[in-house]
This record gives sequence, C-alpha cells and structure tokens, in this order.
Amino acid sequence: MRVATIVGNRPQFVKAAAVSAPLRRRHDEVLIHTGQHHDAELSSVFFEELDVPTPDRWLGVAGGDNDSQLSRMRVALGPLLTELAPDAVLVYGDTNSTLAGALAAVDAVRPLVHVEAGMRSFDTTMPEERNRVLTDQLAALLLCSTGGAIDHLREEGVRGEAILVGDVMVDVARAMSERVRSNAPALKRLGLTSGGYLLTTLHRAANVDDPEQLRTFVELLEALHDPVVLPLHPRTRARLEAAGLAGRAAQAAELTPPLGYLEFATLLYHAKAVLTDSGGVQKEAYLAAVPCITLRDRTEWTETVEAGWNTLVGLDPAAALAALAQPKPASRPELYGDGHAGERVVAALDKLV
Ligand code: UDP
Repeated sequence: MRVATIVGNRPQFVKAAAVSAPLRRRHDEVLIHTGQHHDAELSSVFFEELDVPTPDRWLGVAGGDNDSQLSRMRVALGPLLTELAPDAVLVYGDTNSTLAGALAAVDAVRPLVHVEAGMRSFDTTMPEERNRVLTDQLAALLLCSTGGAIDHLREEGVRGEAILVGDVMVDVARAMSERVRSNAPALKRLGLTSGGYLLTTLHRAANVDDPEQLRTFVELLEALHDPVVLPLHPRTRARLEAAGLAGRAAQAAELTPPLGYLEFATLLYHAKAVLTDSGGVQKEAYLAAVPCITLRDRTEWTETVEAGWNTLVGLDPAAALAALAQPKPASRPELYGDGHAGERVVAALDKLV
C-alpha cells in the first residue's frame, strides 16, 4: 500500500524516525514535509542524526499565525493528496501539520491514521489539545501510546479503531541510548558534569507569547541554585529579545541554540533534573530516569506525574525549588511500551488494506 506521511516539526521528525524504516520494509511511503520547522537546527539535523528518509515532497509553509499556517498547509496538501492517491495518510502528534494533514486526508477521502492518538491535557486553551481532539475525531485508525489514551478515545466516542501500540519515541530513545550514555564530548563542550546541572526548555505559546509569563520564567531561572542550560527555541529567543529579557536570561542560564537530538538527549540523560513545557521532553525525562519539573499546570503525560517522576509547577519558582528538593522515586514502571511501537504501527496499518 502507499502511505502518505505528513510531518512538519521537530517532535514529528523524531517520531518518524521510529516508523519510516519499518514502514518502508513493507509498504511505499511518501514523506511530505510541510515546512513548519524548516531550518537546520529544528529540521535537517534530525533527518541526518536519526536516519529519517529525505522528504519526498516539501510544501514550504512556515511562519504566520496558526490559522494562516493551517489554511496554507491545507491548500498545498489538497492537490498533492489527489495526485498521490495514497491508501492511507499518516500524521503524528498534535501540531498544525497534524491537523492540516487530517483535514486534507478527509477532504481527499483517504483513511487517516493518527500516531500518538488519545493523549489529553484537558486544557483546550492549548492549540495542541485542540489539534489532538479534532484529529482523533477524523481518524480511521488511532494508534495509542497508553491504555489511558484508549480510554479517552472511548469516552469521546471516536468512530475510528483505537489500538495500543506503545509510544514511538521510546523506540528512538532506546535506539540512541548507548550513544547518549557515552557522549562525553557533548557535556565537555558546555563545561558540564554529569548530575551537576539542570536542563530547561520552554516554547509553548501560553508561556512565551505573554511578556509577563516570560518575566516570571526568567525569575524562576534566577531562583534556581544549580547551573542551568537552556537551548532556546527560536520563538522563545525572539520573545525574550522583544520583552527586553534576553540579558537577564543569559545571566541566569547558559543559553544555546536549539540542539540536535543526540546532543539534547545527552544533556537530558546526564541532567540532575529537567524543567520544561515540552510534551516530548517530559516523556524522554521519564525514560532517562531524570526527574521532570513541568512548567505548565496540566499535562497529557499524566502517568509520569502519577509515577512521581514529574511535578507540575506552572511557572512558580517556589514550587519548582520544592520539587527539585524531592528524592527520586524508588521505581519506574514501563509506562510507554517496550521500544517496538514502530513495528506495531506498521502491523496496524495492514488492517486498512
Ligand atoms: N529536542 C531537541 N533539541 C532541543 C530541544 C528538544 O532535540 O534543543 C527534542 C527532544 O528531545 C524531543 C523533541 O525535540 O525529542 C521535543 O520537541 P518539542 O519540545 O519542540 O515539542 P513537543 O514535544 O513539546 O511537541
């Protein structure tokens, strides 16, 4: 069968790294890159490091607000899906590229497959939550990371078939784990020692688009006692500069450009703890047995909170410090699968033929 896979931003390149190889052993894949993340730091480094196949089609849609991005992606995807006439359209996660792909698939009357279906933060102010919920309503096949995701889909009464496959990011984290463990040069380059620093990321609209929220984040950085490394998403860098906070942030943390997967995963694996508003990083911290302080009030990765490895603190410095003072939990159950989710995605696709 021919599968049109639509990706567009950083976490989706990581997810495609788990699926494209097993998919291409059994089926034809046409990889479509919307262009949402288009530069070397957010895009090509992931293709190179993780052996993701070079995109077959490039739509070049970037910038603008969510609505304009969505509609430009749909306009570009419509004729392309008509031309390719795929047997299925596969999308990952919760971005504009996910929802645009879902809508275009339905317009083209092609079965939609959603990987990482059913995750919910129950915070509909987040564009990502709206993208997830809408995509799941449209999908024919909903491939889930957890049993909880299946339950959410059941409660929402989705029409498609939900299947538990495990989380594809686990496949990638496991495949890279040996290289990450032994990647001392990445630590040395930044003058860090294992366990002696905190790793931070921040890029959610609710945190970075409001200058007051951003100021609170900088205050949180200033309150931390350990050295902090902060790979800056371009959106966050631009907002810090616009708010006149870049200097203070640079005093409080070692600011770096966005890092490639290998370097970032290395810094994550060796960190004392991670502070983040990223979805993927919460999950990767759990896999790496690194405590996570989530800079949001809610998360879709609730199992990590229940297991005691993740604490939601919003942007409250005192709550972050209190969470950092907690000892690591004694156990870390396998919450997100066994590292073979990519193969199960392909096996599930066979059901569509
Ligand atoms: N990541 C990376 N370099 C960075 C920051 C993140 O390689 O400087 C990786 C991270 O390991 C994870 C993915 O990017 O695999 C998460 O992407 P992001 O936080 O942008 O998106 P989210 O998961 O929140 O949708």
